[in-house]
Amino acid sequence: MTSAASPSGAVAPHERAKPLAKGSVYPAKDLCSQCGLCDSRWVAYVKDSCAFLNQRFDAMEAAAHGRSRDLDNEDELYFGVQQRMLTARLQQPLDGAQWTGIVSRIGVRALETGLVDAVLCVGQSEDDRFTPVPRLARTPEEVLSARVNKPTLSPNLEVLEQLPGSGIKRLLAIGVGCQIQALRAVQPTLPLDELFVLGLPCVDNVSRQGLQTFLESTVSSPDTVVHYEFMQDFRIHFRHSDGREETVPFFGLDTPKLKDVFAPSCLSCFDYTNAGADLVVGYMGATFGRQWLTVRNPKGQQLLDLVEAELDVAPVSSSGQRQAAVQQGIEAYDKAVKLPIWVANLIGFFVERFGPKGLEYGRFSIDSHFTRNAVWLRRHHPDKVEAHIPAFARRIISRYRLPD
Ligand code: FAD
Ligand code: SF4
Repeated sequence: MTSAASPSGAVAPHERAKPLAKGSVYPAKDLCSQCGLCDSRWVAYVKDSCAFLNQRFDAMEAAAHGRSRDLDNEDELYFGVQQRMLTARLQQPLDGAQWTGIVSRIGVRALETGLVDAVLCVGQSEDDRFTPVPRLARTPEEVLSARVNKPTLSPNLEVLEQLPGSGIKRLLAIGVGCQIQALRAVQPTLPLDELFVLGLPCVDNVSRQGLQTFLESTVSSPDTVVHYEFMQDFRIHFRHSDGREETVPFFGLDTPKLKDVFAPSCLSCFDYTNAGADLVVGYMGATFGRQWLTVRNPKGQQLLDLVEAELDVAPVSSSGQRQAAVQQGIEAYDKAVKLPIWVANLIGFFVERFGPKGLEYGRFSIDSHFTRNAVWLRRHHPDKVEAHIPAFARRIISRYRLPD
């Protein structure tokens, strides 16, 4: 149970605060991921809560899961505190979901069973399928209409502003790492009796303009894309409005053009696997076509219990060796190499057959992003390196040779 006023009866800081004006410079400046906290009165706590001003992984993990991750356990080092990892598919996939729709189905069941009063999720703007509109969904239909990724920075926490007076006492929040870090930091001050957190892994997010640049440099018909995903077969899969599928090999991306597309927040983030969530649902630790779930604590299991009977479940698996591919990738990315498409396809062919799979693919992706981000941070914000890179990421990064 949380309360708005301090035990002495004094007015809590957020009761006196106002959201920042849209368009103003937010406290994290160029590193701001527009998580939405500053668009609510909980901006009062931004200095301690913003993922880009104050990293607090150990405290967050201890408060949410009862302990911080065990750095000597490779699974926890990479994927965070856990009591269970598995792969799964909904036996009846949800049409139009990002993968099979496990996230939306959990949101629906959480409302139907009365576990929560509302679900924080992200719908889309009426004019643009890729512009996110966060909402507090009160019905299964509203949760379902928020299915599928809006692959752009989303101000999820702006809806905290709607909590006071709403009657919502039990909330399920769906979100990516930076949003969840800020949410966990302000959790004790929220007017809620119960909070469940369903996390998505996240990297390389972009502004709406950045997304346009990415689509225009990568895909045959940018305006008809309705869905895309970087998948475990080392290809980006695009789906167009007429149902057509198009795939592009990772190794064929226009790196010189795309290096500047990712949001600075994402180039300085080490919370790929969403350390603060009760349950995380992604794909990158599963074999192609399946979803990958990490249950961090009993609340996470409670969320999974809502849908487990509807899932086709399998254990996690791991094969291949990632290290040499990660090291080569660090150097190629730094030189901003763009490969001819036939070379990209050839590399893709061999990597898909003989490269890392399952959890090893997850570690490949984490290693590649953490090393890239460490280099970016060192070059662009050298003063932040010490405080900003958490211990688990340091240990992973130290396994590779980085450029100056
Ligand atoms: P669905 O049932 O389709 O539900 C999708 C949910 O995503 C909805 O509830 C919606 O509220 C939420 N959502 C949509 N857009 C946003 C947004 N911009 N911010 C926050 N929440 C949003 N998984 C990986 O394993 N590796 C990755 O690198 C990875 N990157 C991701 C990057 C982004 C920006 C996002 C949003 C997700 C990413 N994921 C990643 C998660 C993955 O793509 C799927 O979202 C997840 O596996 C759930 O699939 P589903 O079919 O169950 O989701
Ligand atoms: Fe505020 Fe969130 Fe931006 Fe940090 S990332 S400055 S908390 S909106």
